[in-house]
Amino acid sequence: KDWPEIKGDITYKDVTFAYNTGEKVLENFNLHIKAGETIALVGETGSGKSTIVNLACRFYEPTKGQIFIDGVDYKKMPLLWLHSNLGYVLQGPHLFSGTIKDNIRYGNLDASELEIIRAAKLVNAHDFIKKLEKGYDTEVGEGGSKLSTGEKQLISFARAILANPRIFVLDEATSSIDTETEQKIQDAIHKVLKGRTSFIIAHRLSTIRTADRILVIKDGKIIEEGNHLKL
Ligand code: ATP
Ligand code: MG
Repeated sequence: KDWPEIKGDITYKDVTFAYNTGEKVLENFNLHIKAGETIALVGETGSGKSTIVNLACRFYEPTKGQIFIDGVDYKKMPLLWLHSNLGYVLQGPHLFSGTIKDNIRYGNLDASELEIIRAAKLVNAHDFIKKLEKGYDTEVGEGGSKLSTGEKQLISFARAILANPRIFVLDEATSSIDTETEQKIQDAIHKVLKGRTSFIIAHRLSTIRTADRILVIKDGKIIEEGNHLKL
């Protein structure tokens, strides 16, 4: 069966979820996100923000209940198909061993050099990569060149954008990033979100402000909802 293009409408229906520890992190969780909408999740540490987005990515599946993408239970979709429509920058971005080019191309093996550079430029990573002695051929990951957290994050953004995904997830780490890189990341976020269904877990008000809807999460529940003007 050929799957139609994913539009990115996402529904959590009575989703209950527990990690293997058995304790329920979400219980009868309901949420509908329209295709193209940007949702920001805020809330204290351990409240369930990453769990909510990990479920949308199908890194985990609901213990009970269902998640629908464009009205179809996502368990019925081939995982690879779903993942090829998904771009993510996760908490504590990690790079694979290999070169910067390999890392940007990861999951999109047929991407050309030009496309890789275009993605890096779009997220403002090109300039710092060019300054490295070996440029895009710099080895990273364990034992490789030391990149800052912010630089790793920019490379993750470039990877996420290269696939031109319908669904974009940003689970931002609370790390100290210098103001210049910070500005680049902000700028990248704006570009990446446009026209996609996006989940952002961000710590900076300036990032959250761009969301169509802000959900305040506590103990796995949405306790408040609105936009930045309302909250
Ligand atoms: P933070 O702001 O610190 O990133 P969060 O809101 O993203 O927090 P989650 O990571 O979703 O919170 O965690 C929700 C709950 O699930 C917490 O009680 C946490 O300890 C637990 N949890 C998260 N990941 C796992 C895991 N892999 N195995 C077991 N329990 C987990
Ligand atoms: Mg988290």
